[in-house]
Amino acid sequence: MGNTPDFVMSGALLRAVYFASQKHRDQRRKDPAASPYINHPVEVAYILWFEGGVRDEAVLVGAVLHDTVEDTDTSLEEVARVFGETVCGYVDEVSDDTSLSRKERKAAQLEHAAHISQGARLIKLGDKISNVRDIVRAAPKGWSDARCAEYFNWCKAVVDRMRGTNAHLEAAFDTVYQEHIGDFA
Ligand code: NDP
Ligand code: ZN
Repeated sequence: MGNTPDFVMSGALLRAVYFASQKHRDQRRKDPAASPYINHPVEVAYILWFEGGVRDEAVLVGAVLHDTVEDTDTSLEEVARVFGETVCGYVDEVSDDTSLSRKERKAAQLEHAAHISQGARLIKLGDKISNVRDIVRAAPKGWSDARCAEYFNWCKAVVDRMRGTNAHLEAAFDTVYQEHIGDFA
């Protein structure tokens, strides 16, 4: 655990929120209301702190930045320069290789989940919790029930590869999965 005192936002975390808000400024989520994209990385860090009890600053910063390399023009070099090598390592570990097809990316995430660092696993757990909760709040535009169910089940398979990382986060995922997988039957 890091040394960030409760309820005091560190400069590094504030810098990450600002950086991510600029990088994702023109992006929207896939829900019908097209919510601002930044809501999602902020929620991932929020889940880690308030539900996972995570206090490691590099993990929280990595959570805020987790989609900047995959989904914006941000390079890993830029992340390393601004936030350092530890954060850059986490962002690298949770970024898909965008040269792969959607199917290959899904398979690669499943394969990698068992081998990534503890910090990257925490970020990935928060990401999956946030994404399935987003779908429960409102299914992405154009998604059938079958597609939502497939996404839920793929997330569960990724989470299953990371069991033993953080009991609170795993239980939070299991709760939303169990309560809502039946919505798509
Ligand atoms: P995508 O990877 O295309 O979309 C899911 C990703 O979108 C999330 O991981 C999340 O990534 C991001 N996202 C943005 N907005 C939202 C939101 N409101 N709610 C949740 N996620 C959001 O989906 P999949 O390819 O995984 O599709 C799910 C399943 O459907 C797959 O198993 C696939 O095989 C199948 N499929 C079906 C199709 C069909 O037409 N029936 C077509 C394609 C796939 P991030 O955290 O990075 O933002
Ligand atoms: Zn994400």
